[in-house]
Amino acid sequence: MHKHENFKLQLTATIPQKLAFLMQHPIQPINSEYDKLYYLMIMNEKIPRKWITIELMCNKAKAVYCSICLAFAVCENTFTTGSTNFRHMHSVIKIHETKVHISAVEAYLRSSKNKSFDNSISIKILNEKNRQIYSNVHIIKQIFEIIKFLGKQNLPYRGSNVTETLSHFVNENLNHGNFLEMIRIISKNDQILRDHLEKAILKSKRRKKKLKLSEKSKGRGSLITLLSKTTVNKVIDVVLDQIRNLIKKEIGNKRFSLQMDSTQDISVYDQATICLRYIYNGKITERLFALTKVTNSSGKGFFDILSECFLKHGIQMRNIIGELFNGAANMRGELVGLLALIRQQQGFEPNPNPEK
Ligand SMILES: [Zn+2]
Repeated sequence: MHKHENFKLQLTATIPQKLAFLMQHPIQPINSEYDKLYYLMIMNEKIPRKWITIELMCNKAKAVYCSICLAFAVCENTFTTGSTNFRHMHSVIKIHETKVHISAVEAYLRSSKNKSFDNSISIKILNEKNRQIYSNVHIIKQIFEIIKFLGKQNLPYRGSNVTETLSHFVNENLNHGNFLEMIRIISKNDQILRDHLEKAILKSKRRKKKLKLSEKSKGRGSLITLLSKTTVNKVIDVVLDQIRNLIKKEIGNKRFSLQMDSTQDISVYDQATICLRYIYNGKITERLFALTKVTNSSGKGFFDILSECFLKHGIQMRNIIGELFNGAANMRGELVGLLALIRQQQGFEPNPNPEK
């Protein structure tokens, strides 16, 4: 794209030259279709976006630039080359303000102490970003606490599919599942969580309305509430990793006993448990290490599950010194039962004549 002089600055420009360049901006035609872009709404406060500067051609916008990035960004971005994505300009601008733009703003603020160019917008964007990070960390911490509590008390996280959506959440008479109900209780005394919850419900409702209109498929799309089953599952995975790391540390390279069994869960899937029993700090310690879906319930099937799990977590099969299985053939069968396969792996020959 051929750029006008106003939207170019030499890489070698000095700081006074950069600040002088900024004095020529912003170029923001008023009473145009772009009026809405010139303001950022933070908590009902209208803050001017002084960085947005528009290149015009025959009174129509040709491209949108960021004057601060043109002067202070260390590398090119959408708004130094000029964005022409007018259809999605709002979201492109939002992305810009949270990413590359921040470091350019910081560079600008360092150079422009008390200079005349109005930098309140830049400071507010920085503050807003920090506030957002702080509140997200706070929310995630609360979610971790709830999930740890539910896990410890052996309570299910979820409710029924229908009542679990945020758009139904305003109805306090419905049971929304333990996780969301705990969020509700905590939010009563937690301003950050309450604000977040209100926003998430609103967004979820809007999204639902939009989907209804467009008759598109379900799913959360780009909506991130931190309160969905996706987040819950991710947090559970993180907690699981932490617990497993602790068990691996405790067990080290010591000998241990293995307990393995399977049963059907309520969704009629066969699930196998892998429990490890070992001595830690002079005490017998017994831990549930894994719960895995069984697709093949033969001895070989169980052996594959076990091998994969141990390989993934660096646990040595040769350190097994005792096994506790049920009496079924797939577990104790002399030739192809799980026990026999473990023994083979450990270097024992199968007994060719089990009668003796
Ligand atoms: Zn920028």
